[in-house]
Amino acid sequence: MAIMTRDFNAVDLSDPKAAALAVKRKALELGADAVGIGNIDRWEGAPLQMDPKQIMPECKSIIGMVFRVERGSLRGVEEGTYMSNYSAMGYGGITYLYMPMTVINLSKFIEDQGYEAIPMGHQSDWRGIDNEGYALPKFSRPARPGQAQPDVMIQLRIAAYLCGLGEIGFSKMFLSPQFGPRCRVGIIMTDVELEPDPIYDGPQLCNRCMACVKACPAQAFSTEKTIKVKLAGHDVEWSDLDMAKCSYAFRGCKDSGVVQDDPYNPPSPTSVPGEWSPFYHKPKNLYKTGQAVCGSRGCTRACMISLENRGVLQNTFKEKFRRRPVWNIDWSTPPEYAPGTKFRNSDDEGID
Ligand code: SF4
Ligand code: SF4
Repeated sequence: MAIMTRDFNAVDLSDPKAAALAVKRKALELGADAVGIGNIDRWEGAPLQMDPKQIMPECKSIIGMVFRVERGSLRGVEEGTYMSNYSAMGYGGITYLYMPMTVINLSKFIEDQGYEAIPMGHQSDWRGIDNEGYALPKFSRPARPGQAQPDVMIQLRIAAYLCGLGEIGFSKMFLSPQFGPRCRVGIIMTDVELEPDPIYDGPQLCNRCMACVKACPAQAFSTEKTIKVKLAGHDVEWSDLDMAKCSYAFRGCKDSGVVQDDPYNPPSPTSVPGEWSPFYHKPKNLYKTGQAVCGSRGCTRACMISLENRGVLQNTFKEKFRRRPVWNIDWSTPPEYAPGTKFRNSDDEGID
C-alpha cells in the first residue's frame, strides 16, 4: 500500500472567471458564509502599513469571506444569563479557531494548484501601527530599507468592502446584506488572477438610524466627527469611534474616577462594573480575545435589531430578537436572587 496525498494541479485556475467560481464554491464548502473577490488594483493608494503589496508584491487578488456570528450566540448576553457565549462562540472562537481553519484550508486548495495563498483570519497582533495608524515607536524596523515595518496590517473591514461583500456602517462595523453587523471577516491574498466582484450596490444597509450611537454604553461614537475615505473610487464615511472609550467599556468597565480597593478590572484602578456588566470583576478572556462583556450592545445588537426591523437582511428569523426589556444593573442596590439559588453559606453572597 503506497502513501496517499492530495491531488496536485487537479483544478485549472488559469481562467479568471472559472477560477473565481472554483474558489468561491470551495470557500462556502469549507465554512465561509459569503465570499467575494477584489482585484489588487482596488488597494491602490493604501497607506504603506496597510498595503497588501507590501506583504505579497505579486498579489493579484484578494478573496474576502464573511463568517456569521450566530444570532443565538447573542441570546445569553441579551437575557443576561449566559454572557460568555458571545465572547467565546461569536468572537474569539470564530477569530482564533473557526476562521483560521477555513482560510488555511482554502489556501491549501489554491496552493495545491500551484499558486501562492496567504491565509489571514485575524488582524496581526504583531502589527507595527496603533489603532490610529501611527507607527509604534521602538517596536519594529523595516527589514529592508524603504519597506513597511512589520507587521503590515490589512484592514479586514475595508477588505470586505473592496471584495464587494457589503457596506461599512456609521458604526465602523462591516455590514453584510446577509447578517448585518453579525460578521467576522477573513481574507486570502493570492497571486492567482480571479474575476473580481463589483463593489456592493444592493439595498442600502446603513440608513444612519443612530441606534448604535444611542445604545453604546461607552458613548464611543461621535456624531459630529466622522472619518471619510475613498475606497476604489467610492466615498465611504463612518463615525470617528473613540477606541479607548470602547475598549474600556466593552469589558464591562465604568470609570468611577476614584481609585478602588478592589477594582473591577485591576489594570484600571478606578474601574467599577458598569450597568451593562453583571460581574463583580471582569471575567477572563475566552479564546484569547473574547471579553466582550457589553455584548456589543450598540454596534451589533442595536444595529442588527434596526436592520432586521427594516427587513433589509437576507438571514431572516421567525421570531424577533428583542423579546424583553433591555436589562441594566443598579450596582447601588443589593442583588435579588431567584428562588432556588443556593450558596454554601450566607457569606458567599459577597454582599457587604
Ligand atoms: S445602527 Fe443604524 S446608524 Fe448605526 S451602523 Fe447600524 S444602520 Fe448604521
Ligand atoms: S463594543 Fe460595546 S462599547 Fe464598543 S462600540 Fe460596540 S457597543 Fe460600544
